[in-house]
Amino acid sequence: KKPVCECNACYGGSDCSKLLSDCAADAGSGDPYFLEPFWMQRAASSAILVSGWHRMGYTYSDGTFISELLVQYIKRLHATVGNAITEGKYIIFGSGSTQLLNAAVYGLSPNASMSPAKVVATAPYFPVYRTQTQFFNSRDFSYEGDTSLWKNKTDKNSLFIEFVTSPNNPDGKLTKGILHGSNVKTIHDRAYYWPHFTAIPSPADDDLMLYTISKLTGHAGTRFGWAIIKDKAVYDKMLTYIEMNTMGVSREAQLRALKVLDVALEGDGKQIFQFAYSTLRDRWIRLKETISKTKRFSLQNLSSQYCTFFKRERDPSPAYAWLKCERKEDKNCYKILEAAGINGREGSLYSAEDRYVRLSLIRSQDDFEILISKLKVLVAKD
Ligand code: PMP
Repeated sequence: KKPVCECNACYGGSDCSKLLSDCAADAGSGDPYFLEPFWMQRAASSAILVSGWHRMGYTYSDGTFISELLVQYIKRLHATVGNAITEGKYIIFGSGSTQLLNAAVYGLSPNASMSPAKVVATAPYFPVYRTQTQFFNSRDFSYEGDTSLWKNKTDKNSLFIEFVTSPNNPDGKLTKGILHGSNVKTIHDRAYYWPHFTAIPSPADDDLMLYTISKLTGHAGTRFGWAIIKDKAVYDKMLTYIEMNTMGVSREAQLRALKVLDVALEGDGKQIFQFAYSTLRDRWIRLKETISKTKRFSLQNLSSQYCTFFKRERDPSPAYAWLKCERKEDKNCYKILEAAGINGREGSLYSAEDRYVRLSLIRSQDDFEILISKLKVLVAKD
């Protein structure tokens, strides 16, 4: 039984089992509570204790802000999962991969003497690429809209920095970069490139890749992410960025990351990946089944694919549903769902039409059950 203080907003009573009737389904944020049961089963082995006198200094004994042991764990993790090549590359830590997004833009930008780098992404895309680049307004880079605006233009005098998210947030597609050439640098955001969410066709071997524990172990609140970087000069610039910004990631965060990765790696990761995949696969099947009863809504098309981690074909199990309102008059899909007691996120947040809504499938089981029951009512009305 869950303690009362952790009741989902839709449940009440002394043991949180009473479903409150006037409650809306929360399918908004990407809080990865779907992994909570995995960690509840490992409550003791995943715990850390830090004494008051422990780890008080700024740096590790080698004078860096980066735990070498944690770097080794991360390399072992990628080798075990087969989702990234780390050999001969540099690794840097950030307060979540959020901090590393702008560190990467800075790291890839030219010196101020040249024209600013043009930062682009392809809709639908994770909004922070745009909002952060605009917020950290700099002479070195500027946000220049959707990649498609630049696809067939020859602007050899500018450096382009393209964000590529694969699998993509919000639609779960394994995307590739659109711009190519010697004046194009790419930031590969691999936050969701784990067997929970997608098949792993091959290890990613790009020049700059971003990963995070937020969507891997589910510890989004720890704020721990890492970048894998090929080029030493880019690594040095990103290191300067982190030193100027926060002087490294909190040592408590690094310690917790080390602990949860250690537990996640037990049995070569089979337990966490099997648990996460089967949970999300079941949710996707149930959601598809519910939506298939109507023509009013549709979901993104995803297909089964061979996964080198599971060594077999696996079904889709995306982190988010990218739901579309198909009727011509249903231009604002968010409002339609909201009226039915379902809170998602507007398509326009992802630079797409409001005919789309993102529904988070990685929240708690309670959240998912409420989402499905509200959708069933909505679909039955049709
Ligand atoms: N990239 C993508 C595509 C994301 O969806 C998120 C989290 N929603 C992040 C990066 C940032 O993750 P974090 O800062 O928690 O590591």
